[in-house]
Amino acid sequence: MKINIAIDGPAGSGKSTISKEIAKKMGIIYVDTGALYRAVGLKLVNNGVTADTEPPVVEILKDTVVTIKFVEGAQRVFLDGQDVSDLIRTQQISMMASKCSALPCVREFLLEMQRKLARENSVIMDGRDIGTVVLPAADVKIFLTASPECRAKRRFIELSEKGDNTPYEEILKTVIERDYNDSHRAIAPLKKADDAIEIDTTPIGLQESIELIYNTILQQVEKKGQK
Ligand code: C5P
Repeated sequence: MKINIAIDGPAGSGKSTISKEIAKKMGIIYVDTGALYRAVGLKLVNNGVTADTEPPVVEILKDTVVTIKFVEGAQRVFLDGQDVSDLIRTQQISMMASKCSALPCVREFLLEMQRKLARENSVIMDGRDIGTVVLPAADVKIFLTASPECRAKRRFIELSEKGDNTPYEEILKTVIERDYNDSHRAIAPLKKADDAIEIDTTPIGLQESIELIYNTILQQVEKKGQK
């Protein structure tokens, strides 16, 4: 049986870490859609395009190929044939991804690729608009939240472990700015789908969040099977 699980929520709510673990437990693939927007962001930065207006971005996209591959179950993202999975994890690219993701041409450019993956595979897909736009008929929809401070702290720890010394205050500022951009854009804003289950991970640890969400998914799948 094919299953599509949509996980949406703001930056740092734990979506990717939790989704990866659940994908492993369920033996399905985890699709990180943020990485696709980041790859487009990287292309724009490499070409000195600001994403303030749409026409130059439309031009660049004509000459852009974003693909993903799964290597031992882990997603790798390719931009024009180059594996950019590590290059896209900087603060600069986070901001550019957030900015360019507000442009209709960028969202359209990436939409079919996400839907195709879900048509052909059982997936747990995370992003901002998976339950609302990309997979409105997903079998299970989860909307994850956590306070901005909690999310900034998690990002701070994650970056420090990679040797990136960006100060906490700067990360918090970026988190708040990205939340604002993501939830105020005209198309596909970050929003809970009406039929999504909201889970706040602020007061609970990672393992507990994984268990809670995994059990919620199993319950929802069982409920659907009984209908
Ligand atoms: O999830 P991540 O933080 O890597 O996403 C980077 C940016 O890409 C987000 O700030 C958001 O603006 C955008 N994004 C989006 N829709 C998605 C996934 C990510 O607009 N489905």
